[in-house]
Amino acid sequence: MTVERDGTAWLSLLEELVNTDSAPGDHTGIEAVYSRLVPVLDRLGLSVRQRATDGGPSVLVARRSGSRTHRSRVLMVGHVDTVFDRGTAQARPFRMAGERAFGPGVADMKGGLVVMLAALSELGEDAWDGLDLTMVFNGDEESGSPFSRPVIEEMATGRDAALVFEAARPSGAVVTSRRGVARYRLDVTGRASHSGSNPGAGANALETLAHKILGIQQLGRDVDRATVNVVLADGGTRPNIIPPVASVHVDARFDDEAERTVERGLQALAGPGPVEGTTTQVTRYGGRPAFPRPFDWLAGEYVDAAKTLGLRIETVAAGGVSDANFTAALGVPTLDGLGPSGGGAHTDDEYIEVASLAERASACAVLLSRLARPRAAPGDQR
Ligand SMILES: [Zn+2]
Repeated sequence: MTVERDGTAWLSLLEELVNTDSAPGDHTGIEAVYSRLVPVLDRLGLSVRQRATDGGPSVLVARRSGSRTHRSRVLMVGHVDTVFDRGTAQARPFRMAGERAFGPGVADMKGGLVVMLAALSELGEDAWDGLDLTMVFNGDEESGSPFSRPVIEEMATGRDAALVFEAARPSGAVVTSRRGVARYRLDVTGRASHSGSNPGAGANALETLAHKILGIQQLGRDVDRATVNVVLADGGTRPNIIPPVASVHVDARFDDEAERTVERGLQALAGPGPVEGTTTQVTRYGGRPAFPRPFDWLAGEYVDAAKTLGLRIETVAAGGVSDANFTAALGVPTLDGLGPSGGGAHTDDEYIEVASLAERASACAVLLSRLARPRAAPGDQR
């Protein structure tokens, strides 16, 4: 990568972004990352505004629309939060070693943020003219995007394409589908009694929960194309009391077909028993819908765009979730993994291949230029 391009030192920008901690819930850190993106967005001719959310970090929305009658409506999505606590960047800041760059969030996904901006810096006026471009930067993705989800969905609705800049796989592959995730909580209520003097008066919530846990694990084995696991449990009040309460959290991953089966199976665990006097409540919270099928024309266009630069890029289905799940579930043609090639996300060994920053930026620029061509008019067969 040429370090200087369009007046912006992309590698230095990456270094700055990585060295700015932005943990989940750290609104100050998240705003600090935004404040480094805004001047670059300004220089690229985008108008920027900050959207408040209901209790979460704000969302940064940047737009630029060309003057051609039929413009391709493209959404680009990146998150600025990382999983790393404040102080991590100071303890192990951005560093280069050989062909790779390391640091907290360098792949997930501060490298992707740089690719987004660098790609736009390569667009000619003609391409800009054929684009109606919206960029969304959020700061709660690592927490499941509960606050930014409505903004992402609003911005994605009616778009011709949504491009998400999570890191490419270590192999360099881009991501064309993702499983969905849902979280459930089971709450068992029983009746307390003294375990020595009057055990028969109690209704043991933990015993019922034990049955439910085995049922949940069995469900995971029974349903194809899904994984279901108990992940966190709690129960009882004191060592000499028959437990009146117990609860467990469940993590479920699925494609869109399996989601309904998992939902039915877990909801069937609600109700009284099996221990007399106990009852179970099942609550679903959070999660993301599945991004079950590739949008082949968009993936093909990208792979082909990369080929014109001499890059061979594969496509792959991923097990983890991202904000691409939201845009794809709306039916908006979506492609993910457009950031640099990297690995070790959420660990101390997280890295990117430095050369892939420039390669991915250029591949994205070619893709955008192609999407901007006049043939990308509404009603065009894709
Ligand atoms: Zn990410």
